[in-house]
Amino acid sequence: MELIDGKKTSAEIKQEIAAEVKNIIANGGRAPHLAAVLVGHDGGSETYVAHKIKSCEEVGFKSTLIRYEADVTEDELLKAVDRLNNDNDVDGFIVQLPLPKHIDEQKVIEAIDPKKDVDGFHPTNLGRLVAGLDTFVSATPSGIVDLLKRYNIPTAGKHCVIIGRSNIVGRPLSILMSQKGIDATVTVCHSRTENLKEIARTADILVAAIGKPGFVTADMVKPGAAVIDVGTTRVKSDQTKSGWKLKGDVDFDTVSPLCSYITPVPGGVGPMTICSLLKNTLKAGKQR
Ligand code: NAP
Repeated sequence: MELIDGKKTSAEIKQEIAAEVKNIIANGGRAPHLAAVLVGHDGGSETYVAHKIKSCEEVGFKSTLIRYEADVTEDELLKAVDRLNNDNDVDGFIVQLPLPKHIDEQKVIEAIDPKKDVDGFHPTNLGRLVAGLDTFVSATPSGIVDLLKRYNIPTAGKHCVIIGRSNIVGRPLSILMSQKGIDATVTVCHSRTENLKEIARTADILVAAIGKPGFVTADMVKPGAAVIDVGTTRVKSDQTKSGWKLKGDVDFDTVSPLCSYITPVPGGVGPMTICSLLKNTLKAGKQR
């Protein structure tokens, strides 16, 4: 079994992006600028946004963090999105999800200018992905494909089973994996799937994006399969200072001896997600 090191791979990609930014500046251009909107003080969201801002600094991007309290109105947030859409200095921006319950997330996503939607969540960008057109591919699916490519994991003609059909992970990943050039045969599973275990066991590449710690057990994995664990759930832990740790959707200890490749949690898909966001921001900057 080979461990897929998302940390190492993302560090390599960040170096490539940083070199490109230096080159842009040396040729008289300006550094790409990513803005992040953070609503409230959810621990997970705080951590993710802090990582995104830090990563911007690492590669030489300009970044701006815009904070709102959890009681911000939908209208105020939509106005902030509009300001960012029209801010010539900002190449791309994200609104960190989840948002408080009184705000319609989909409405906010659809208010973002698709040309600045570096998360790739806008229906225009999802639609362009389905049509096989150039687009901002959402960060997590794009990071997963980068990992498969960099580890030379064969995809053409292989059976890829994806558990989870969310608009930010499972569904866009299923489209990417079936695209020409990647050429996997894809099955998408969800909470209404019958015989999930049997289907999972036929996968050459098994992706778990559910949000249920330890859901994928050894009896669901074909020996030699590549296993990609997207899940990141905070569980209580008395071994960490914070009192919690991240747990994936795969029962790592029993599954890892069976696999050809496996991503750990943390340190697998997570770091790649940020890299893909940086890549999208670089692309948005070049396109403007
Ligand atoms: P989500 O929107 O909650 O979707 C979960 C999906 O899992 C749904 O499609 C759901 O099916 C399916 N599901 C739930 N229980 C199931 C079961 N028992 N059997 C089969 N399918 C089941 O989640 P998400 O946003 O895609 O995120 C999934 C996980 O990935 C979470 O842990 C999240 O924190 C993590 N994540 C990590 C990263 C990263 O960078 N590492 C990025 C994004 C997300 P239905 O559609 O039928 O309800």
